[in-house]
Amino acid sequence: MSAHTTKTGFATRAIHHGYNPQDEQGALTPPLHLTSTFSFETAQAGGEMFAGERPGHIYSRISNPTLDLLEQRVANLEGGEAGLATASGMGAITSVLWTFLSPGDEVIVDKTLYGCTFAYMHHGLRRFGITITHVDMTNPQNLAAAINDKTKIVFFETPANPNMRLVDIAAIAQIAHGKQIRVVVDNTYATPLLTRPLELGADLVVHSATKYLGGHGDLVAGLVVGGEQDLSDIRLIGMKDMTGAVMAPFNAMLVLRGIKTLELRMARHCDSALRVAHMLEDHPAVRKVYYPGLESFEQHALAKRQMADFGGMIAFELTGGMAKGIAMMNSLEMIQRAVSLGDAESLIQHPASMTHSTYTPQERADHGISDGLVRLSIGLENPDDILDDLTGALTTPNSVAA
Ligand SMILES: *Cc1c(COP(=O)(O)O)cnc(C)c1O
Repeated sequence: MSAHTTKTGFATRAIHHGYNPQDEQGALTPPLHLTSTFSFETAQAGGEMFAGERPGHIYSRISNPTLDLLEQRVANLEGGEAGLATASGMGAITSVLWTFLSPGDEVIVDKTLYGCTFAYMHHGLRRFGITITHVDMTNPQNLAAAINDKTKIVFFETPANPNMRLVDIAAIAQIAHGKQIRVVVDNTYATPLLTRPLELGADLVVHSATKYLGGHGDLVAGLVVGGEQDLSDIRLIGMKDMTGAVMAPFNAMLVLRGIKTLELRMARHCDSALRVAHMLEDHPAVRKVYYPGLESFEQHALAKRQMADFGGMIAFELTGGMAKGIAMMNSLEMIQRAVSLGDAESLIQHPASMTHSTYTPQERADHGISDGLVRLSIGLENPDDILDDLTGALTTPNSVAA
């Protein structure tokens, strides 16, 4: 059996799918195609490529062989027909939505969204006559009640950034099914290793590859995966002509390198995160912990059903609220105060003043993002060192709960 089929394991496909060294003079790792444009053998051949009658690369804002390999590999890992590499996660989201929306259409989204996705919808799409409707998708029946003739896209994150809310992908897809509505899932937190939305009935998956897929905090990138026709439209309409948000070939090479170790890295992220979540849950200075792997997590049953493991992200609130959370963050010695997530380094940030400051205070209150919430991305350091740094910061006189 070839290592290129979908029957082999996840890590095997993440390392081999779509590439045979013998096609590239034996080079073990795929070549980096640093080229903006491609030479046509004849003028007629070029014309035929533009007309879509002949396969081949034209210009790197449309396609490039290095991106092509990444797109095929991630499509395989997500169980989709085709992929598209974009300049950023926001490039992926905006390219998808611009492709399928017209004035008068409606997008139905879950309550909680990553800050810039929320801003794009409310401050971007709404200016162009598109209605954004939030429903609490933790109860899928709320979606059934909200769908109408204008609804074109249903969009959500699971787990959601920053408060870890989960959405039942299969239940949502079933409600939207057969209604000409596309279900788009931002799978950044779970990665295709832990959740495969397309297999559960979603139409499109978007990623910030900046996070776990790249995995090393050295790039900004995005990906879209879904059906062949949709992906062709997103490439040629949303990306090529509307956003222009194409991934650079060098970044594609780094993401290809990153996903080779995704399975190994996620196992460590998940194991360490569960240990940290238990420690936080038992700590007197902590009021509440949001981690899908905890029995006390409201949607733990759904997490067990929908996720292969519970991921590397934790959100929590201190008994002393936001002031204590800020003091605790300032007492950390190893864990870095930074936005982004999914890196080797453990990172901590305060959504209300950082990633989700695109919401007004009232919007944050309405959307379940409390001012005291602290978001933690568990890195790949030795777990005891992560625990020591956190327990030390939680018990300094400066940060302990009064
Ligand atoms: C970071 C993030 C994005 C945006 O991705 P960029 O690569 O920063 O553009 C979108 N969705 C989620 C859930 C994210 O965490």
